[in-house]
Formats: sequence, structure tokens, C-alpha cells
Amino acid sequence: MDFSLSSEQKEYQELALKFAKNEMIPNAAKFDESGEFPKEIFEKAWQAGLLNTCVPVEYGGAGFSNLDAVLIGECLAYGCMGMNSSMMANDLALLPIVIAGTAEQKKKFLTPFTEKFLLASFCLTEPENGSDAAGIKTSIVDKGDHYEVNGNKMWITNGGYADLYVVYGTKDASLKNKGISCVVVPKGTAGIEIGKKEDKLGHRASDTRAITFNKVKVPKENLLGKEGEGWQIAMKTLDHSRPLVAASAVGGAQRAMDLAVKYALERKQFGKSISEFQAVQFMLAEMGMRTEASRMLVYQAAWMADQKIRNTKVASIAKAMASDGLMQTATDAVQIYGGYGYSKEYPIEKIFRDAKLLQIYEGTSQIQRMVIARELLRSN
Ligand SMILES: Cc1cc2nc3c(=O)[nH]c(=O)nc-3n(C[C@H](O)[C@H](O)[C@H](O)COP(=O)(O)OP(=O)(O)OC[C@H]3O[C@@H](n4cnc5c(N)ncnc54)[C@H](O)[C@@H]3O)c2cc1C
Repeated sequence: MDFSLSSEQKEYQELALKFAKNEMIPNAAKFDESGEFPKEIFEKAWQAGLLNTCVPVEYGGAGFSNLDAVLIGECLAYGCMGMNSSMMANDLALLPIVIAGTAEQKKKFLTPFTEKFLLASFCLTEPENGSDAAGIKTSIVDKGDHYEVNGNKMWITNGGYADLYVVYGTKDASLKNKGISCVVVPKGTAGIEIGKKEDKLGHRASDTRAITFNKVKVPKENLLGKEGEGWQIAMKTLDHSRPLVAASAVGGAQRAMDLAVKYALERKQFGKSISEFQAVQFMLAEMGMRTEASRMLVYQAAWMADQKIRNTKVASIAKAMASDGLMQTATDAVQIYGGYGYSKEYPIEKIFRDAKLLQIYEGTSQIQRMVIARELLRSN
């Protein structure tokens, strides 16, 4: 087993980390405070070749593997997990096209993302259906020469800025996962109603909105795969995107740990550095244990996706371990900062707020455990 990275992988890892340190970290607090959307930073990331990692070479992309994407995402999340949410959302939305699109669809929908800076949204969640995604009620109905989409989506990342929406809906909600289809809806199509920007606890630089589809006409050629294949497309997408979300958690945890180590070395109490107290050392040691173990799981889940080995269980283990680990690491990092950790003057407070979302989106930590248990039970 070879744990070493190729020279190219080291190169873009370095590029992404440099971008995180120069462009994201210095601006993270400002955008967190204002809740503004840092479009210029995202555009710079696009120019640097750090966005849309899933687009294949044939369609103008860099041809990154899932492991490559994970290495980049980890570094970007080190800069700001909130900004990285928006950047990752592009891959989440484009992956269904990569997975299920025809050559023509890929050329039409993916190539523009490599020619100029564009944003995309993945629209699965609804106000009444989050974890129970197979129960979505948005309808996608065949109207002869086109499909009509009707329904409400909730918590859609990049919702207010997306150039295209990948939308899941059903021809009959009682069919559950078997009735679901997936269509690409271009921005500006009549009937797309964009809700207000959600005022969130963390990830405040990312744009999150409710989107209503009101009698939206979609050309037949925008259906991905066949009718009723939407659920399979969504599940395959998650096998690729969960390692990315887990990588974001690892990047966030690494940043929290680096800050905690630095602070522990600087802060003095009882006449000595707090890093000399074993209680503090043990918190740091556990951060190291969790972060390193999570990183290995994330790399494994991504590597499996690249080898086309079914990674559903490992991807869910990686996502749950990395995001639960991040939450604990962020909590302990605030603890090490003491009262100063509770102040907006120090960066750890934001990381603590951002950390929570990783346990919620793309399947909560409880849902990951359900997936893991299901995979364990079915293999026996
Ligand atoms: C900032 C943000 C950005 C997001 N971006 C997107 C996006 O771009 N596109 C998109 O489609 N969605 C997006 N989401 C939605 C996200 O994936 C859902 O919020 C998540 O799947 C949980 O769904 P829910 O919020 O409806 O919670 P619920 O499903 O209502 O869950 C509530 C609680 O019940 C628990 N629970 C539910 N069912 C079970 C069960 N069977 N067993 C045990 N526990 C259970 C959950 O774990 C959770 O603790 C985003 C969410 C947020 C907050």
C-alpha cells in the first residue's frame, strides 16, 4: 500500500492551501459577519483551477480524480468551511450530469463551467423532506413535448446565484424512490422563484435559499438518465460527494487543531505555558487522533470511488467520523482558548459554528449510521 501523493497531487494541494491562506483566511471573518456572498473569491478560485473538480477532461475539466478533489477540498476548507460549501455545491450539482448525462448533455451543461465562472445548485431537499429524501413531493410530469416541474425545495446552496439547477422530483410520490427523476433546469426559466437568503448560524458566506418551481417547463432533453432513475443518480452522486464533505470536515478540524496548538504554546497560566498541562495536551492529542484517522478514511472512500469499488459504507463512515470528529475538535479548541475562544476577535468561534453543519448536510450523522448499519447487515 502506497500512501504517498504524486508530484501533481502535491502541487495542487500546495496551490489550494496557498489560496486558502492568501485569499480565504484573511477574508473569512468579514464575510461571516456580513453574510455577503464572496463571488470574487470564488471567481479567483475558478481562475486558479480549483472549482468544478468533477468535470472530465473531454468536457474541458482538469480530469481530477475523487482523491484529487478531496485533497483540494480539504485545503479550501482549511481556509473557510463556509466558502468551501459554495465551492463544493458546484461539484454536487455537476456530478449527476457527469454520472448520468449523455455526451451531448455533458457538452452542453458541463463545458460552460470550464469556459467561465458559473455556479450550480443541487435541489433535492424539501421543507417536509430532508432525511426522508425518497419521499419528496416536487412533481416532474411528462406533458408530451416537455416536463413540468412543480414544488418547493429548501436549503439550496448557491440558490440565489446558480446558473443551473439540478432538480429531483417525482411523477407519483407514492412510488417513493422508484418514481424519482432528475432534470437540469437552466437559470432564468420562467417559474423559478428564489427565496430570501437564509440567516444561518455558520457557513454564512455560502448562499442558502428556498427555491420554488412553479409550472416550470423543462425540455425533454434535460432529463438525466431515464425517468425513474433519479434516486439511483442521487445515491451515486452522494458516494462521490460524501468524501468531499468529509474532506471539508478534515480541513476544518486541521485548522482548529493548528490554532489550538499555537494558542496553547502562547498562553500562560500559573506561571507556565498551558501546553505543559496534561489536560490540555490530551485534548490536543485526541484532536490529532481524530483528524488523522478521519483523513485516512476520507482518502480511502475517495480512492474506492476512483477504483469504481462500491464505497457507500466507507463514504458514510468517513462522513460521520470526520464531521463528528470535527465538532469535538472545534469544541475542545474553544475550550483551550478559554474565554477568548468565545470571542469573535479570535477565529476559533467561527470554526465552532461552521463545524455544526457538517453533521447535518448531505445526510445527518444519524442517517450515516443508518446507512452504515444497513450496509453491515446486508453483507451478512
Ligand atoms: C446550510 C445548509 C445547506 C444545505 N444545502 C443543501 C443543498 O445544496 N441541496 C440540498 O438538496 N439540500 C441541502 N441541505 C439540506 C440538508 O441536506 C438537510 O438539512 C439534511 O439532509 C437534514 O434534513 P432536515 O433538515 O429536513 O432534517 P430532518 O430530516 O427533519 O431531521 C431532523 C432530525 O431527525 C433525525 N432523523 C431523521 N430521520 C431519522 C431516522 N430515520 N433515524 C434517526 N434519526 C433521524 C435527523 O438525524 C435530525 O437529527 C442543506 C442544509 C443546510 C442547513
